[in-house]
Amino acid sequence: MVQNILIKEGDCVTKIEGNLSGIRKNILDIMEGLYQFTVPAGQTITPEMANILAQITDQLNREIAVYFNRRGQVISIAVGDTRTVKLPETSSRRSAWRLSGIRCIHTHPTDNSALSSMDLSSLKDMRFDIMAALGVSGGEVVEVSFGYIAGLTDDEGFEVQTAGPLTLEDFVNLNLTFLTTQIDRILETRGRGTKLAESERAILVGVERQGNWDVTDSLAELAQLAETAGAEVVKAVWQKRDRPDASYFIGRGKVEEICELRQITGINLVIFDDELSPAQQRNLEQVIGVKVIDRTALILDIFAQRASTHEGKLQVELAQLQYNLPRLGGQGLVLSRLGGGIGTRGPGETKLEVDRRRIRSRISDINKEIEQIKKHRELHRKRRKEARIPSVALVGYTNAGKSTLLNTLSNAGVLAEDKLFATLDPTTRKVTLAGGQELLITDTVGFIQKLPHQLVAAFRATLEEVVQSDLLLHVIDASHQRFQEQSDAVFSVLRELGISEKPIITVYNKIDKIDNPYLVDRLLRQPDSVGISALKESQIDSLLDIIHNKVRQQVIDMDLLVPYNDSGLLARLYDSGSVKSVDYAAEGIHIKVSLPPELINTYQKYTAGEITND
Ligand code: GDP
Ligand code: MG
Repeated sequence: MVQNILIKEGDCVTKIEGNLSGIRKNILDIMEGLYQFTVPAGQTITPEMANILAQITDQLNREIAVYFNRRGQVISIAVGDTRTVKLPETSSRRSAWRLSGIRCIHTHPTDNSALSSMDLSSLKDMRFDIMAALGVSGGEVVEVSFGYIAGLTDDEGFEVQTAGPLTLEDFVNLNLTFLTTQIDRILETRGRGTKLAESERAILVGVERQGNWDVTDSLAELAQLAETAGAEVVKAVWQKRDRPDASYFIGRGKVEEICELRQITGINLVIFDDELSPAQQRNLEQVIGVKVIDRTALILDIFAQRASTHEGKLQVELAQLQYNLPRLGGQGLVLSRLGGGIGTRGPGETKLEVDRRRIRSRISDINKEIEQIKKHRELHRKRRKEARIPSVALVGYTNAGKSTLLNTLSNAGVLAEDKLFATLDPTTRKVTLAGGQELLITDTVGFIQKLPHQLVAAFRATLEEVVQSDLLLHVIDASHQRFQEQSDAVFSVLRELGISEKPIITVYNKIDKIDNPYLVDRLLRQPDSVGISALKESQIDSLLDIIHNKVRQQVIDMDLLVPYNDSGLLARLYDSGSVKSVDYAAEGIHIKVSLPPELINTYQKYTAGEITND
C-alpha cells in the first residue's frame, strides 16, 4: 500500500527480530538477504548459509537464529538469544500432536555448540522439527549440535534427545525429512492425530498389473482420496510390473524419476496406490527424501479426520496404532548413519521398546473400551428388535449416493458431499411408508476397492448395523464407468462380513446422468432392482414399493384369538408394535398381527385364522 514510508536513522524498518541496537545497516541488509535463500526440502541448511551466519555472528558477537519451514524457506530471522517465533496459524486439533514443521538453526558465538537448557525448552514448547546450534569460531562453523523431540514421556510431555557435536558437513547431509517423519509417526500413535497437513503437495504412484483394475482408474480414485484428505495432487506416475520390488516396491528407474520430479515440482509427499511394507516405506523415504505413505495410511487419515462418534474415533485410533506399530523406529537409523565417533545420545533399542510397549497397552485398552460400547449397543439393538421395526441398511461403493438417498427418503438432512467417505459412522433414520409401516434406515461408510483386509475387520463393529439389518439396499452409481467393478468390490466386502445372502434390493442410482436407455433397460431386467435418481427424486415411489414388498415378505401376518383373561398378551403384542387391528368380540379378542417368523411358534396356539405369507 504505502510504498514510501519515511525511514529515520536508528528507526529502521526491517524483517529482522530481536535486539538490533548498534547493528550496522549493511549487516542488516546481509541478514535480510537470507530471506531469499531456499534450502532443498529435506536438508537442514546449505553450507553457504551456514557460512554467512558464522561470519555475521563473528562480527556481532551475538547469537543469530534462523527459522525455516519444511519447504526450506526462511520464515524468520532473529538476533540475540530469544528462541520464540510466531508460528503460522495451524488448524488446532490436528496439529496438537505433530511437530510444528519449523526448525530453528542458531549460532553460538563460541566454539561450543552444546544446547542450553533454554534451547531445549523452546524445542519442546514450539515443537520444532529440530533445534540446532552452530558453534562459531574465527568466522567459521566449528561444530554443530542439535536436539529433537524423540517421543512422549509417560505424563504426555515431550521427550528430547540431543545429537552431536558433529561437523557442519555431517549436519548438512542429515536426512531431515526422514527424521521428522519418524517423529511425527511416534507422536501420531499418541495423538489420535493425522498425517496430512493441508498444504501437502503430492505425487501418486501406481503399478499396472495384469488382470487388475485399470491403473488410471485406480489412480483417479486415489487422487480423489488424497484431495478428500486435504492434499493437492501434482502428478501421477505408474509403471507396468507384475511383482513388486522387495526394497522399493517399484523399480529403481522409477524411483529416480520420482526424485527428479520432487526437485522440479517441489512436492513433499508421495502416495502409493498399494500397500507398502514398513521396509519399503523406509527405503523410499530415505532415497526420495520426502514422506511416503500408502493407500491404507491415506484411508486411515481420512477416517481419522471424519470419525465423529466416540466409537468411530476409537476404531480409527486402533487401526492407526496397528498400522504404525511395525513402522516405528527409523530415527535411530538416521542417526546411526551419521557415522561413528559421534556422541549421539539417541534413542536406542530400549527407547523403541518403551514406545512399542506403550502402544501395545493402548491397543489393549481400546479393545476393552470398544467391547464395552459393543455390549451397550447390543442391548439397544435388542430392544429395537423387540419393537420389530424392520431395519434397512444402505450399502454401496463410496460416492454412489447413499447419503443423498437417505436424505431423500427421510429429509433428515444427513451430510451428503461429493467426497469419498463423507459418512463414517452409521446414521439411522426412521421412515414411515405410505401404509404406515415404519422402517429404520441406516446409512453406512462407503465401500471401496483395495480397502485393506484388516481395516474391514477394524470397522466390523461400525458395520454391525449392516450385519444386523433385515434388508440391504445396494446403491450403485449407474452413471459410473466402472460401476460393475465397484459393485463387485461391495459384494466382496459383504462376503467378508458374511452377509452376502441377506435379502437385497439393487438400486441403480443417478439415472438422470445416463442417456443410454438400453443400459437402464438391461439393468432393470434383473429381479429386485430399480433405477432412481436420489438427487432429482425420481422413481423414489417405485423404490418404496419394492422395499415395502420385501419387508412384508419377512413378516408373517396372523389372526389371533386371545381370551379376555389373557389380556397381558395383548399388551405385549402392542409393545412389539406388530398389532394391525383389534376387534373385541364375544368369544374373545381378535387381533391381526404381523410377526417375524421366529415368533410364530410362540403364538401358534392362539391362531384363529390362516397363517399367510404374502
Ligand atoms: P455416498 O458416498 O454413497 O453417501 O454418496 P453421496 O450421497 O454423498 O453422493 C455423492 C455425490 O453424488 C454427491 O455429489 C451427490 O450430490 C451425487 N448424487 C447422489 N445421487 C445422485 C443422483 O441421483 N444423480 C446425480 N446426478 N448425482 C447424485
Ligand atoms: Mg455417504
